[in-house]
Amino acid sequence: MSGDTSPYRAACARGELVIQRCTACDRRIHLPEPACPWCGGHEFAFEPASGDGLVHTYTVVHRSFAPGYRGREPYVMAWVDLPEGAGVRARGGVPARTGAHRPAGTGDVPGRPAPLEARVKLGNVLIPVADLDEAIAFYGLPVKFRDGDRFAALDGGGVTVALAGPAEQVTDSAAPSYKVDDVTAAVERLTARGGEVVRAPEAGPHETRAVLRDPSGNLFVLYSPL
Ligand SMILES: [Zn+2]
Repeated sequence: MSGDTSPYRAACARGELVIQRCTACDRRIHLPEPACPWCGGHEFAFEPASGDGLVHTYTVVHRSFAPGYRGREPYVMAWVDLPEGAGVRARGGVPARTGAHRPAGTGDVPGRPAPLEARVKLGNVLIPVADLDEAIAFYGLPVKFRDGDRFAALDGGGVTVALAGPAEQVTDSAAPSYKVDDVTAAVERLTARGGEVVRAPEAGPHETRAVLRDPSGNLFVLYSPL
């Protein structure tokens, strides 16, 4: 296709977010453009967003001054960076429960130990599987993203169900996988608290990652998208 951005709108109509990628220079472009703003290329791929993202900030709109949004209050407006490298501003139709989340970088809650990172959240649960096709059929969840036979991200509702094929073996058993800003810094902090390093920080195909055991011996993964 040449200069065609219609796949983006078609995906929107299906309720999916795809990111335009210039096949000449490999940069992501969002919102889509008929020509690449960096290299002028006209050949594009449109790839599904993984569903992961880092919320920088959000606000709950109770009274909208934007005509297109009037009558839909309350809704959430959020600024989210995607691991695909594109920044988006997203509207969620989520009735806000203030206090359920705290905005990025607001620091620690007095009386509680500092979290792994200021913005830690459970990113996915990593499940090592022998065969991706078989496992996808077994779990029966919608596939959000797939990388050949290495990896598939399934929509598990609130959390991604991450299937790791034999080529993507990170742990021998299912393990919670926490997304952090800085894997090395988080490993240092957690070993100081009695965690044990199983695999030191290393580069994966889509992320930096490390495997640790908690003081009870439970495996978990830390990762940070590249
Ligand atoms: Zn380009």
